[in-house]
Amino acid sequence: MPASEAPNRPAGRIVVIEGDITLEAVDAVVNAANSALRRGGGVDGAIHRAAGPELQRELATLGGCPTGECRLSGGHRLAAPHIIHCVGPVWQGGRDDEDALLASCYRQALALACRHGLSSLAFPAISTGIYGFPRDRAAAIAVATVREELARDATVTEVRFVCFDRETAETYRQVLGDQNPG
Ligand code: ADP
Repeated sequence: MPASEAPNRPAGRIVVIEGDITLEAVDAVVNAANSALRRGGGVDGAIHRAAGPELQRELATLGGCPTGECRLSGGHRLAAPHIIHCVGPVWQGGRDDEDALLASCYRQALALACRHGLSSLAFPAISTGIYGFPRDRAAAIAVATVREELARDATVTEVRFVCFDRETAETYRQVLGDQNPG
């Protein structure tokens, strides 16, 4: 169906969860990775710890990933069979196309999931930790982009926004309410 004919309401459901994304039993956990795809801190460090050393060995074969793009790997020791590694932008005060690059992460992750027939995804709040993207602004971009993509393709039936702290979860709930179409 062309995007112009897409229904207003996405087919897939969106849920907000407060917790540790490494525990999510979904088809793919999304990681907030760095462009070298090398083990870092934050959610990336937690995912590497939980997935085990085979994850870094697999990522070393991929040759990195530019900002705004994503790459697929196995889930290794995670409950999730796949990991989608997104490289979010470092916040530069809004001068460096950060909004578009962050939207691109969510769009590409959904497109990759569709191509591989993955129907449930768990996203962290990409770029809002070490990379410094303002939390409210990032949540608005995440929700709007995911809604658009769910309306475009019915492969993904559930998206979980997994928030590590209560403030982030509240921000997502507020944005979901505010952006509720109808
Ligand atoms: P970035 O470098 O893209 O900013 P971070 O990992 O520093 O990525 O932070 C992204 C978000 O992930 C932050 O909101 C942070 O609190 C959250 N986070 C950190 N660990 C986890 C985890 N285990 N599960 C879910 N979210 C997490």
